[in-house]
Amino acid sequence: LSGRLTGVFDRLRQRGTLGEADVTEALREVRLAMLDADVALPVVKDFTAKVRERALGAEVLSAISPGQQVAKIVNDVLVEQLGGAGAVPLNLAATAPVPVLMVGLQGSGKTTTSGKIALRLASRERKKVLLASLDTQRPAAQLQLAQLAERAKVASLPIVAGQTPTQIAERAMETGRREGYDVVILDTAGRLSIDAALMDEVRAIRDITRPAETLLVVDAMTGQDAVQTARAFNEAVGVTGIVMTRMDGDSRGGAALSMRQVTGAPIKLTGSGEKLEALEEFHPERIAGRILGLGDIAGLVEKASEHFDEEEAEKLASKMMRGKFDLDDYATQLRQIGKMGSIDNILGMLPGMGKVREQLAGANIDTSILKRQAAIISSMTKAERKTPDIIKASRKKRIAAGSGSTVQEVNKLLKQFDDMSTMMKRMNKLGTKGLMRQGLG
Ligand code: GDP
Ligand code: MG
Repeated sequence: LSGRLTGVFDRLRQRGTLGEADVTEALREVRLAMLDADVALPVVKDFTAKVRERALGAEVLSAISPGQQVAKIVNDVLVEQLGGAGAVPLNLAATAPVPVLMVGLQGSGKTTTSGKIALRLASRERKKVLLASLDTQRPAAQLQLAQLAERAKVASLPIVAGQTPTQIAERAMETGRREGYDVVILDTAGRLSIDAALMDEVRAIRDITRPAETLLVVDAMTGQDAVQTARAFNEAVGVTGIVMTRMDGDSRGGAALSMRQVTGAPIKLTGSGEKLEALEEFHPERIAGRILGLGDIAGLVEKASEHFDEEEAEKLASKMMRGKFDLDDYATQLRQIGKMGSIDNILGMLPGMGKVREQLAGANIDTSILKRQAAIISSMTKAERKTPDIIKASRKKRIAAGSGSTVQEVNKLLKQFDDMSTMMKRMNKLGTKGLMRQGLG
C-alpha cells in the first residue's frame, strides 16, 4: 500500500476485533488510493463495501496488527475481484475455424493485439491463424493488419475494396473453412466513443461469425469511462474476455478492476509494448499490487526497521528493489526474521509470497530452522553465496556435511531462496518508480 495507507493502518489501535471506526478510517484511504489508480467510482464503492463486510468483527490475529490485517483483507478482496489467483487461457474449444472477435474503442490496441495473439497461437500452439481486418472506417486499417500478419508470419485475408464489415466477416469465415484455418481473428473498427452505429456493426458481425471468444481490448490508461465502455460492449455483444493494453505505461491499471466488475469476464491477457511479443498472461496479484501501490512492502520495511538498525533496513530494501539479492542477504534476512518473530507475518506483507508461505506453514517454521538455514549458508564459499547457481551435487554434499545437515535441507534452502529472488525480480519489474514514490528509494 502507499505510504499514506500504511500510516493509517499503523494508527489502527490494537484490540480484540477490528472496530467500525478503525475500518472506516482505513477504507477512506483505500478509496482515495483506488480513485488515484483510476478505478471507477461505483466500482470503488462496491469494493470498499465488500472489504468492510469482511473486516468488521474479524478477529484480530495476535501475530499481526489490526492495520496489517485490514491491509491484508484489502489485498485479498482485490485479488479475488480481479479474478483470483490463476490466469485464464483463451477459450478456443470450438469447431475450426474458431472465430475470435476483437472489440473496443479506437486506439485501444485491437489491431496490435490481434497481431500479438496470432503470433502467440502460431508459434506456441502451432495453430494455423488467419487475420482479418473488418475495419472499413480508417483507410489504412486493413493494410496495418496485413503488415502485422507479415511480421507475425501468419496469413491475412486479402483486401477487397468496397466490402462492408459484415461482408468481410463472411468472406473471412468462408476462407477459414475452405483453407483449413484453426483460428480466424476478426479485428473490428473502433470509434472514439461509444455510439449506436458501432454497436450495431459489432452485433451484426457477431451474429454472422458466432465467435468463441469476444475480447474487449482496453487501454490501461482508461479512467472513469472504463465502466461505461465495458457495459456498452458487454450489453451489445457479450464480452468473454478482456485484454488490457499499455501495461508498460505509468497507469496503475485500475481499469482492470472496473472492467472485470462490470462484465464479469476474466482479464485474459495484457499488452506491455508495441512489439508483437509484448503480450502476457494476466496475473491478478500483480495488478492488485499495482493498484494499491506495491503491496504492503512499505509496511514491511517499516516494521522491520523497528527491530534492526535503520541502515541495514535501507540496504536490504534497496537491494530488494534492484533485484540484487544473494544468499548473504538471505542469511541477514533470516537473522532479522528470527528477531522479528513470525515469518508468516513478514511474508504476508509481501505480494506474491503465497507459495513460499504455504511451504513454510507446512514446515511449521521456528527459529531453530532459521538458525539451521543460517548454518548451511555459512558453510558455503563466498562464490557460492554470490552465485548459488554453481551449487551442484558435489558442492551440496560438502555444504551438507559442513553444516551438519542433509542434501535435502540444502536443496530446500536453495529452492526458498530461488522463490524469493523470483519474487524480488517480479516486484522490481512492477516498478522501482512506484517504490520511489513511496519515499523508499
Ligand atoms: P486499434 O485502433 O484499437 O486497432 O489500436 P492499434 O492496435 O492500432 O494501436 C494504437 C496504438 O497503440 C499503436 O501505436 C500501437 O503500437 C499502440 N499499442 C498497442 N498496444 C500497446 C501496448 O501494449 N503498449 C504500448 N506502449 N503501445 C501499444
Ligand atoms: Mg485497429
